[in-house]
Amino acid sequence: MLKGKTAVVTGASRGIGRAIALKLAGEGASIVLNYANRKDEADQLMQEIEKLGVKALVVQADVSVFSQVQDLIAKAREEFGSLDILVNNAGITRDGLLMRMSEEDYDRVMEVNLKGVFNCTRHVVPLMVKQKSGRIINITSVVGLVGNAGQTNYAASKAGIVGFTKSLAKEIGSRSITVNAVAPGFIETDMTSELPEKTREAAKENIALKRFGRPENVADAVYFLASDMGEYITGQVISVDGGMAF
Ligand code: NAP
Repeated sequence: MLKGKTAVVTGASRGIGRAIALKLAGEGASIVLNYANRKDEADQLMQEIEKLGVKALVVQADVSVFSQVQDLIAKAREEFGSLDILVNNAGITRDGLLMRMSEEDYDRVMEVNLKGVFNCTRHVVPLMVKQKSGRIINITSVVGLVGNAGQTNYAASKAGIVGFTKSLAKEIGSRSITVNAVAPGFIETDMTSELPEKTREAAKENIALKRFGRPENVADAVYFLASDMGEYITGQVISVDGGMAF
């Protein structure tokens, strides 16, 4: 149970972030729902969460912009006081072979996926250090662990999250703050629905369970790390990938 706790979930309007927000709210946490563009989806989720009997606050912010994240965390603090759980979930893809990748597509993926994690964590850690407790959970990807043709930018950003996670775990462990990453494989969201059918079928062949996962599968791992069950786990990467063979 997460009763009395407050969680910030970035990129909560859709897909995995939405499932994480619903799971943590279902376990009793108050939720700060961040989104980039889709206000309607975020507002609808807020209503769904409030029906669960917990509080939710919707805040628009581009996680790649330091000052916008500062405002996001300030609003969250104003509303809820303490912040106990940060889930850095917001992420994008701009796939393409390196030979044809534009500088803009490389930079944008790094800015949102990796700098976004820095921005949010940078504003939350001082609060957690002060309260001497906290859980930080970063959503990386199996692609950051093993690579994938056509995703050099995305893989670099997600591998960066792994190094960031392990380093910060060592930096702030003495303050009873855990920092972990969850690495999803192929999960049914807007991000993977864009893949051509041929690629989806080929991907399934490399998954032991022979199917894509659901956002809820990732949310369950996040909840595990955020709850008392995750108390003695830090600096780890937990894969939720149906058993992918590489
Ligand atoms: P998704 O369905 O495309 O949703 C992306 C979410 O991120 C949306 O809520 C979007 O907000 C938000 N977002 C995008 N750019 C943002 C920004 N600059 N600032 C704040 N929020 C932003 O993606 P998903 O599949 O749920 O993926 C969620 C996370 O899991 C990502 O980090 C992704 O890399 C990772 N992941 C996904 C898979 C998979 O198979 N789906 C596998 C491995 C890892 P708006 O709705 O407002 O645009």
